[in-house]
Amino acid sequence: MLGILRSQEIKNVVIFVCDALRWDYVPEEVMEMGVTFKTIASSLHTGASFPSIVSGLYPPKHRVETWESILPEGKRGLLSLDEHSISLRCETMWTRWSSGESPVHSVLGNPPEIPLDETGVPFIYIEDDKGGHCPYGLPLGAFGKAGCSEFFAEYGRRGRQELARQYEKGIEQSISQFKHRLRTLKNRGLVESTLVIFTSDHGELLGEYGGLIGHGRPCCPELVYVPTIFIHPALKQGDVIDGGVIRHVDFCPTITALLGYDLHYDVDGVNLLDQNGLPKSGFSFRKGSFFRKGGPLRKSLRSSFSYEADSVWDYYGGHVFHRQRLAKSLPFFIYKVISQTNPESRFMKQSLRGKGLRRRIKSYCESLRHLTYPHIQYMHPEIDEKTARAMLNEYLENIGLVEQEEDLITIDEEVKERLRALGYID
Ligand SMILES: [Zn+2]
Repeated sequence: MLGILRSQEIKNVVIFVCDALRWDYVPEEVMEMGVTFKTIASSLHTGASFPSIVSGLYPPKHRVETWESILPEGKRGLLSLDEHSISLRCETMWTRWSSGESPVHSVLGNPPEIPLDETGVPFIYIEDDKGGHCPYGLPLGAFGKAGCSEFFAEYGRRGRQELARQYEKGIEQSISQFKHRLRTLKNRGLVESTLVIFTSDHGELLGEYGGLIGHGRPCCPELVYVPTIFIHPALKQGDVIDGGVIRHVDFCPTITALLGYDLHYDVDGVNLLDQNGLPKSGFSFRKGSFFRKGGPLRKSLRSSFSYEADSVWDYYGGHVFHRQRLAKSLPFFIYKVISQTNPESRFMKQSLRGKGLRRRIKSYCESLRHLTYPHIQYMHPEIDEKTARAMLNEYLENIGLVEQEEDLITIDEEVKERLRALGYID
């Protein structure tokens, strides 16, 4: 279904990442432009998903799971195509950082940031657009220093429906930005020679499972399933493919094959141009907290507080296996609920205001279940639990148990404060 792209003279690729756009909110207007695929996000937050999009590797292999990691130079896939100009653009996202210095730039080894109307041809242009990231469609500054935390508290008071409506407004803004990019391609006469991929890095929770919001955890359909739309004049418009999935890890092998490059390492994904059918399943991983470094206290706290999940998904649902246990997570959960230090707990508290004790306890228990149960099945996957477990074990065993050397960078308090305002906090 994408094989026809081989016969086209495609030289450039635009990957427009509408941040935090979940599958069930994919805008029809964009679906009408090309071929839509249900997609398995490799992870549940930007810092781990972008490296998968770029490298074709799942997080256990690319090893970028926190904002302190850097994608190894030999695994930079799409960013290492030497005949192409490379740009990673963040015009609407990471606005509190200087151009080219956002946390996404950092984890990807600092690729240049060049606007689409200035990139030299041929190019790989990747954009992280604010999309469905908090505070949905509103300026971050509107909620003071606390940013997303204050935004979610406010919408906890207003209710889930209002939150979802505001989320849609954020997506609408992102679509107009996307259309602006398409106009730029048209003005530059690059429509025929450019493959456009509209996708997302992870989904977003809008108060499900007892009042969970944002992204990063838990591993669930609202965060794992995202849309991908391939857009090119040779492709059928308005086609929606069902029964199979594609994965973030398929982007790199597909694009490199299309542009005639060989990769110098084995990827986890497949070249979608060669596929008669679609991949049947994909993995999604979440390991650790948003930060890793710290003193002994921080390290011991981290082992108790971090959320860890491995999961297998097909078109119809998935199996999630939590690594951390309820006994370890419960004190942290209670601490968060009492201390009100993160967006999640503030939203929960406000949305449960005035509700009876029984209702409140029920909501908290539901959240805890989705954050900690050793195995949770979502919807109706064709893969059974035993097979899912075996698939994960096989993948992880093949990586080997040897700890690889890692490059970690230090993130100062001011930057952490900015990340905190965007909801990245443990
Ligand atoms: Zn993101």
